[in-house]
Amino acid sequence: MAVPLRASSPASTVLVCGGAGYIGAHMCKQLAEAGHTPVTFDNLSTGHRWAVKWGPLVEGDLLDEMKLADVFAEYRIATVMHFAARSLVGESVVQPGLYFRNNVTGTLNLLEAMRAANVRSLIFSSTAAVYGIPEYTPLDELHPTRPINPYGWSKLMAEQLIAEYAQAHGLRAACLRYFNAVGADSEGEIGEAHEPETHLVPNIIKAALEPDAEPVTIFGNDYDTPDGTCIRDYVHVEDLCAAHLLAMEYLARHEGGHAFNLGTGSGSSVGEVLAACRALLGGKPQATISSRRPGDPVRLVASAEKARSELGWAPRHTLADAIKHASAWHRAQIEY
Ligand code: UDP
Repeated sequence: MAVPLRASSPASTVLVCGGAGYIGAHMCKQLAEAGHTPVTFDNLSTGHRWAVKWGPLVEGDLLDEMKLADVFAEYRIATVMHFAARSLVGESVVQPGLYFRNNVTGTLNLLEAMRAANVRSLIFSSTAAVYGIPEYTPLDELHPTRPINPYGWSKLMAEQLIAEYAQAHGLRAACLRYFNAVGADSEGEIGEAHEPETHLVPNIIKAALEPDAEPVTIFGNDYDTPDGTCIRDYVHVEDLCAAHLLAMEYLARHEGGHAFNLGTGSGSSVGEVLAACRALLGGKPQATISSRRPGDPVRLVASAEKARSELGWAPRHTLADAIKHASAWHRAQIEY
């Protein structure tokens, strides 16, 4: 078992929208290990058929209301976990319609299907991007929400829809605001596979491991931080998934809509992440400095105090664990 789990809620069927994606697939594994049946609903636009290993796959799109109704008719779903979304800030700036359609309309369709099927428990993948430029750090859930790009807005708008359904229809919901998800399954069964890959840790690992890879690019070293590079709060994907199981138990005890930050509470700069990777990957990779990436806040660090005190959640893995697990996964993909 990847992560020691607390005694959890009775075995149930959980609809995992986006269960073929990076975080969703890790979630399916933890659900199965906790005795639940994860039913993946995924359009496979960015997810992978091979990643669905722990329960059935229903190929479908949240924009297809008939298909959604069918899945609720076919399975006796107790809880929905909603990971299905577009999630690249840069892409959202050039294609905002794609983000509002998928992330907002898709969530609205899901909420309507849940209401029609009388399913009242939802765990939603939200993001630190709902906060925008931090006015203070660490960021707690009371920090103002002022997104600075369409991706952040689409998630905040989806959170608002969820809050309204909680108010009007008795939905119980937890919006989990992820900071930077990293790592891979500690048993090597699943990992991150985006195409194209834009995230820091997999890009560093690929640059270190893949033959003839280009050096990794560091987006700006002139920020107001000790080493000039941006600071983020990197949290292991298994720890994120463990929080979802705890949120499921929490919703069995609490009505209404709730938001929780999921981060470690400790920030690492791009330079520190690179150094940690080099320490584990034989001194590689090479890096080059380029200009700042538009839309990058200088520092995003979570206060996860609310998740700790109310969900009983504590991240167990370090950044070094995440790099170790992610690099083992990437190495296996290259050798395969
Ligand atoms: N970053 C970088 N090189 C890369 C990818 C990311 O320097 O190839 C930086 C990025 O500018 C940010 C941090 O690494 O400061 C984390 O970026 P990532 O895309 O992984 O996550 P985000 O914070 O955008 O959700």
